[in-house]
Amino acid sequence: MQPQIRSLISDKLRQKISHANNVLVMTGAGVSAESGVPTFRGGGNTTVWKGLPFEVISSAGMLERDLPAVWEWFNYRRGLLAALKPNPAHEAIARWQKLFSDFTLVTQNIDGLHQAAGSRNVVELHGNIWRARCFDCGSRHDVRELKFDNSVPVCFDCGGNLRPDVVLFGEMLPAGAFETAAMKAQTCELCFVVGTSAVVYPAASIPEIARAAGAYLVEVNPEATPLSRLCDELLTGKAGEILPRLER
Ligand SMILES: [Zn+2]
Repeated sequence: MQPQIRSLISDKLRQKISHANNVLVMTGAGVSAESGVPTFRGGGNTTVWKGLPFEVISSAGMLERDLPAVWEWFNYRRGLLAALKPNPAHEAIARWQKLFSDFTLVTQNIDGLHQAAGSRNVVELHGNIWRARCFDCGSRHDVRELKFDNSVPVCFDCGGNLRPDVVLFGEMLPAGAFETAAMKAQTCELCFVVGTSAVVYPAASIPEIARAAGAYLVEVNPEATPLSRLCDELLTGKAGEILPRLER
Protein backbone atom coordinates (compact mmCIF):
# COMPACT_ATOMS: atom_id res chain seq x y z
CA MET A 1 0.00 0.00 0.00
CA GLN A 2 1.36 3.38 -1.00
CA PRO A 3 1.20 6.15 1.59
CA GLN A 4 -0.60 9.28 0.56
CA ILE A 5 1.81 12.09 -0.06
CA ARG A 6 0.49 15.35 1.24
CA SER A 7 1.60 18.63 2.61
CA LEU A 8 -1.74 19.17 4.34
CA ILE A 9 -2.22 17.50 7.68
CA SER A 10 -5.08 15.00 7.57
CA ASP A 11 -8.03 15.09 9.93
CA LYS A 12 -7.09 11.59 10.99
CA LEU A 13 -3.64 12.74 12.08
CA ARG A 14 -5.13 15.77 13.84
CA GLN A 15 -7.39 13.41 15.79
CA LYS A 16 -4.52 11.08 16.61
CA ILE A 17 -2.48 14.01 17.92
CA SER A 18 -5.30 15.33 20.08
CA HIS A 19 -6.03 11.92 21.65
CA ALA A 20 -2.60 10.31 21.92
CA ASN A 21 -0.98 9.88 25.30
CA ASN A 22 2.09 7.94 24.24
CA VAL A 23 4.15 9.49 21.45
CA LEU A 24 7.60 8.70 20.10
CA VAL A 25 9.62 10.94 17.81
CA MET A 26 12.76 9.73 16.09
CA THR A 27 14.99 12.31 14.44
CA GLY A 28 17.98 12.18 12.13
CA ALA A 29 20.41 14.30 10.16
CA GLY A 30 17.73 16.22 8.25
CA VAL A 31 16.63 18.00 11.42
CA SER A 32 20.20 19.08 12.15
CA ALA A 33 20.81 20.10 8.54
CA GLU A 34 18.04 22.71 8.86
CA SER A 35 20.23 24.36 11.52
CA GLY A 36 23.26 24.24 9.23
CA VAL A 37 24.98 21.21 10.78
CA PRO A 38 27.22 19.70 8.11
CA THR A 39 26.61 16.01 7.37
CA PHE A 40 30.10 15.42 5.93
CA ARG A 41 28.49 13.03 3.47
CA GLY A 42 26.15 13.81 0.66
CA GLY A 43 25.61 13.25 -3.04
CA GLY A 44 27.93 10.26 -2.98
CA ASN A 45 30.80 12.37 -1.70
CA THR A 46 32.48 12.23 1.65
CA THR A 47 34.44 14.93 3.40
CA VAL A 48 38.20 14.41 3.54
CA TRP A 49 39.91 15.92 6.54
CA LYS A 50 43.73 16.09 6.62
CA GLY A 51 43.86 13.42 3.95
CA LEU A 52 41.54 11.06 5.83
CA PRO A 53 38.02 10.27 4.60
CA PHE A 54 35.22 10.94 7.09
CA GLU A 55 34.65 7.21 7.64
CA VAL A 56 38.30 6.69 8.53
CA ILE A 57 38.88 9.60 10.90
CA SER A 58 35.55 8.77 12.58
CA SER A 59 36.29 5.05 13.00
CA ALA A 60 36.95 2.80 15.97
CA GLY A 61 40.30 1.80 14.46
CA MET A 62 41.44 5.43 14.48
CA LEU A 63 41.08 5.54 18.27
CA GLU A 64 43.90 3.02 18.50
CA ARG A 65 46.01 4.40 15.66
CA ASP A 66 45.90 8.10 16.48
CA LEU A 67 43.74 9.28 19.40
CA PRO A 68 45.07 12.89 19.25
CA ALA A 69 43.93 13.10 15.60
CA VAL A 70 40.46 11.87 16.56
CA TRP A 71 40.24 14.61 19.21
CA GLU A 72 41.51 17.21 16.75
CA TRP A 73 38.79 16.18 14.31
CA PHE A 74 36.05 16.30 16.95
CA ASN A 75 37.32 19.62 18.29
CA TYR A 76 37.06 20.97 14.74
CA ARG A 77 33.52 19.63 14.43
CA ARG A 78 32.44 21.14 17.75
CA GLY A 79 33.90 24.42 16.57
CA LEU A 80 31.55 24.29 13.57
CA LEU A 81 28.59 23.59 15.87
CA ALA A 82 29.30 26.22 18.48
CA ALA A 83 27.57 29.03 16.58
CA LEU A 84 24.58 26.97 15.44
CA LYS A 85 21.16 27.25 17.03
CA PRO A 86 18.15 24.94 17.34
CA ASN A 87 15.58 25.48 14.57
CA PRO A 88 11.75 25.46 14.75
CA ALA A 89 11.73 21.64 14.45
CA HIS A 90 13.88 21.25 17.59
CA GLU A 91 11.75 23.83 19.37
CA ALA A 92 8.45 22.14 18.45
CA ILE A 93 9.73 18.75 19.61
CA ALA A 94 10.87 20.28 22.89
CA ARG A 95 7.35 21.64 23.46
CA TRP A 96 5.81 18.25 22.73
CA GLN A 97 7.32 16.70 25.85
CA LYS A 98 4.77 18.75 27.80
CA LEU A 99 1.84 18.03 25.47
CA PHE A 100 1.79 14.25 25.84
CA SER A 101 1.76 12.33 29.10
CA ASP A 102 4.31 9.81 27.80
CA PHE A 103 6.73 11.28 25.30
CA THR A 104 10.00 9.86 24.02
CA LEU A 105 12.54 11.53 21.76
CA VAL A 106 15.03 9.21 20.08
CA THR A 107 17.73 10.85 18.00
CA GLN A 108 20.54 9.73 15.74
CA ASN A 109 22.05 13.22 15.96
CA ILE A 110 25.07 13.91 18.15
CA ASP A 111 25.07 17.71 18.06
CA GLY A 112 23.09 18.37 21.27
CA LEU A 113 20.67 20.76 19.53
CA HIS A 114 17.62 18.95 20.93
CA GLN A 115 18.90 19.55 24.46
CA ALA A 116 19.76 23.15 23.56
CA ALA A 117 16.11 23.58 22.56
CA GLY A 118 14.98 22.22 25.93
CA SER A 119 14.39 18.50 25.30
CA ARG A 120 15.13 16.30 28.30
CA ASN A 121 15.81 12.56 28.67
CA VAL A 122 16.76 12.32 24.99
CA VAL A 123 17.57 8.78 23.89
CA GLU A 124 20.81 9.30 21.99
CA LEU A 125 21.45 6.36 19.69
CA HIS A 126 24.81 7.69 18.51
CA GLY A 127 26.05 9.53 21.59
CA ASN A 128 26.77 13.23 21.99
CA ILE A 129 29.67 15.26 20.64
CA TRP A 130 29.67 17.46 23.76
CA ARG A 131 30.49 14.49 26.00
CA ALA A 132 33.70 12.52 26.55
CA ARG A 133 33.99 9.01 27.97
CA CYS A 134 36.86 7.42 29.89
CA PHE A 135 38.50 4.38 28.31
CA ASP A 136 39.38 3.04 31.77
CA CYS A 137 36.50 3.69 34.14
CA GLY A 138 33.74 4.58 31.66
CA SER A 139 32.76 7.83 33.42
CA ARG A 140 31.41 10.62 31.25
CA HIS A 141 32.45 14.28 31.24
CA ASP A 142 31.28 17.50 29.64
CA VAL A 143 33.84 18.29 26.94
CA ARG A 144 33.50 22.02 27.71
CA GLU A 145 35.08 21.38 31.12
CA LEU A 146 38.11 19.47 29.86
CA LYS A 147 41.70 20.60 29.43
CA PHE A 148 43.38 19.82 26.13
CA ASP A 149 46.98 20.59 27.23
CA ASN A 150 48.40 17.34 25.88
CA SER A 151 45.93 17.01 22.99
CA VAL A 152 44.17 14.06 24.67
CA PRO A 153 42.08 15.09 27.71
CA VAL A 154 42.14 12.87 30.79
CA CYS A 155 39.48 11.62 33.19
CA PHE A 156 38.78 13.67 36.36
CA ASP A 157 38.04 10.45 38.24
CA CYS A 158 40.90 8.11 37.34
CA GLY A 159 43.34 9.96 35.07
CA GLY A 160 42.64 7.63 32.13
CA ASN A 161 42.48 8.85 28.55
CA LEU A 162 39.14 10.14 27.32
CA ARG A 163 37.49 9.61 23.96
CA PRO A 164 34.52 11.35 22.33
CA ASP A 165 31.30 9.77 23.64
CA VAL A 166 29.94 9.14 20.16
CA VAL A 167 29.40 5.96 18.20
CA LEU A 168 32.16 5.63 15.62
CA PHE A 169 32.17 3.55 12.45
CA GLY A 170 32.71 -0.06 13.46
CA GLU A 171 31.19 0.36 16.93
CA MET A 172 27.97 -0.90 18.52
CA LEU A 173 25.26 1.47 19.72
CA PRO A 174 25.63 2.44 23.39
CA ALA A 175 24.31 -0.13 25.84
CA GLY A 176 20.72 0.57 26.79
CA ALA A 177 19.94 3.31 24.25
CA PHE A 178 18.60 1.06 21.53
CA GLU A 179 16.79 -1.15 24.06
CA THR A 180 15.06 1.88 25.58
CA ALA A 181 14.04 3.14 22.14
CA ALA A 182 12.74 -0.28 21.09
CA MET A 183 10.76 -0.66 24.31
CA LYS A 184 9.16 2.77 23.87
CA ALA A 185 8.43 2.01 20.20
CA GLN A 186 6.44 -1.03 21.30
CA THR A 187 4.04 0.99 23.42
CA CYS A 188 3.65 4.28 21.52
CA GLU A 189 0.36 5.12 19.80
CA LEU A 190 1.83 7.68 17.46
CA CYS A 191 5.33 7.61 16.00
CA PHE A 192 6.98 10.34 13.96
CA VAL A 193 10.13 9.73 11.97
CA VAL A 194 11.66 13.09 11.14
CA GLY A 195 14.58 13.98 8.90
CA THR A 196 15.88 10.46 8.44
CA SER A 197 15.30 7.72 5.92
CA ALA A 198 16.02 5.28 8.77
CA VAL A 199 17.66 2.74 6.50
CA VAL A 200 20.61 1.97 8.77
CA TYR A 201 20.01 -0.82 11.25
CA PRO A 202 19.45 -1.13 14.12
CA ALA A 203 17.97 2.41 14.18
CA ALA A 204 15.78 1.50 11.20
CA SER A 205 13.97 -1.10 13.24
CA ILE A 206 12.48 1.51 15.62
CA PRO A 207 9.71 2.63 13.21
CA GLU A 208 9.18 -0.99 12.16
CA ILE A 209 8.66 -2.02 15.79
CA ALA A 210 6.25 0.87 16.35
CA ARG A 211 4.24 0.04 13.21
CA ALA A 212 4.12 -3.68 14.00
CA ALA A 213 2.83 -2.89 17.50
CA GLY A 214 -0.02 -0.86 16.02
CA ALA A 215 1.27 2.72 16.20
CA TYR A 216 0.20 5.28 13.62
CA LEU A 217 3.43 5.98 11.75
CA VAL A 218 4.12 9.41 10.24
CA GLU A 219 7.16 10.35 8.23
CA VAL A 220 8.32 13.96 7.91
CA ASN A 221 10.94 14.32 5.19
CA PRO A 222 11.63 16.54 2.18
CA GLU A 223 10.83 13.61 -0.11
CA ALA A 224 9.74 9.97 0.01
CA THR A 225 12.31 7.51 1.37
CA PRO A 226 12.57 3.71 1.62
CA LEU A 227 10.69 4.07 4.91
CA SER A 228 7.67 5.72 3.24
CA ARG A 229 6.01 2.47 2.14
CA LEU A 230 5.74 1.47 5.81
CA CYS A 231 4.18 4.76 6.92
CA ASP A 232 0.53 5.69 7.37
CA GLU A 233 1.29 9.23 6.29
CA LEU A 234 4.15 11.04 4.65
CA LEU A 235 4.39 14.78 5.21
CA THR A 236 6.79 16.19 2.65
CA GLY A 237 8.68 19.35 3.42
CA LYS A 238 11.00 20.88 5.95
CA ALA A 239 10.59 19.61 9.50
CA GLY A 240 10.93 23.17 10.79
CA GLU A 241 7.82 24.16 8.82
CA ILE A 242 5.73 21.02 9.29
CA LEU A 243 6.20 20.17 12.98
CA PRO A 244 5.01 23.51 14.40
CA ARG A 245 1.79 23.03 12.35
CA LEU A 246 1.09 19.70 14.04
CA GLU A 247 0.62 21.08 17.53
CA ARG A 248 -2.74 20.60 19.13
ZN1 LIG B 1 38.20 7.37 34.29
